[in-house]
Amino acid sequence: MKAVRINEFGGPEVLSYEDVEVPEPGPGQARVRLAASGVNFIDVYQRTGVYPGDLPRTLGLEGAGEVDAVGEGVEDLSVGDYVAFAMAPGSYAEYAVVPAEKLVPFNVTLVEARVAAAIMLQGMTAHYLTHSTYPLEEGQTALVHAAAGGVGLLLCQIAKMKGARVIGTVSTEEKAALAREAGADEVILYTEQDFVEETNRITGGEGVHVVYDSVGKTTFDGSLDCLRTRGYMVLFGGSSGQVPPFDLQILNQKGGLFVTRPSLAQYTLTRDELMWRAESLFSWIGQGNLNVRIGGTYSLADTAQAHRDLEARKTTGKLILIPESE
Ligand code: NDP
Repeated sequence: MKAVRINEFGGPEVLSYEDVEVPEPGPGQARVRLAASGVNFIDVYQRTGVYPGDLPRTLGLEGAGEVDAVGEGVEDLSVGDYVAFAMAPGSYAEYAVVPAEKLVPFNVTLVEARVAAAIMLQGMTAHYLTHSTYPLEEGQTALVHAAAGGVGLLLCQIAKMKGARVIGTVSTEEKAALAREAGADEVILYTEQDFVEETNRITGGEGVHVVYDSVGKTTFDGSLDCLRTRGYMVLFGGSSGQVPPFDLQILNQKGGLFVTRPSLAQYTLTRDELMWRAESLFSWIGQGNLNVRIGGTYSLADTAQAHRDLEARKTTGKLILIPESE
């Protein structure tokens, strides 16, 4: 089968489209014939070595498709079932072997396989951020950076479902229009406007209850200045680079602020928690309440281009990869 592997850390050029053996499922695992794989920013951190890992290896943590073989002891899944997964390695390929406990069955007549591949990682992230890390309440205000990105568009929609007021930041007018469509009440072009001043103007100087910040290095300090007293700084990524160490006393000076740096794995600790988040997403999609924007579709052989576009801030919504065999 074909797979996209890295043999060294580096730029998009290290993504190598190779022939490898089709993997065999071991005990407790199933093999999925992938209809689509999701591209996520974490794949960039893994490719560059910001998040270290073994070499060589197949990249990709998310996908959806049909079960085509099951290993010993797997009772709840059968060949032909449609399943989706996130945070299981090796999805930039035609087939992936995944622990059965990470697989979420879905009804392919209600949700297309490509949409299922697009929603798992970014959707469950938007879910845990709004429901668990800082559970938004009706009438509260949230600042969402990179609001037209993969996580961003979902965060805007889910925050609105919870009755929050959403202020989004984006880099272009095209992205601003998408953020508004996703429900953002106010959109700031943070490449042209000072987002701290704008947020304070919009909130009448009060500040927001929570900032969901995935941009990191270039926004972190400003984000703290957008928070009201005892506000929550939820730093969940570093698209512009990692935030350097900082003086905790700043949290006191800026109003007794809270800071957390969460990851999806900490919020899908049990099968029940994983199913709660994934099934909520699938049911919202099935009912037409959550729109999943697939902003870019690439062939698996073109994975490097998908990475280039993502890192160059050219993309909106989700990027997916389709194997040649599909
Ligand atoms: P996005 O689609 O959001 O792409 C990244 C966006 O970040 C860009 O489109 C751009 O939007 C913005 N950005 C700002 N500065 C830069 C920069 N210097 N370089 C590149 N992009 C920049 O990606 P994802 O939705 O896949 O991921 C968003 C973030 O969320 C990532 O940081 C990722 O690591 C994090 N994440 C964290 C998870 C967790 O559990 N902790 C899980 C999933 C994602 P604009 O042009 O509008 O500024």
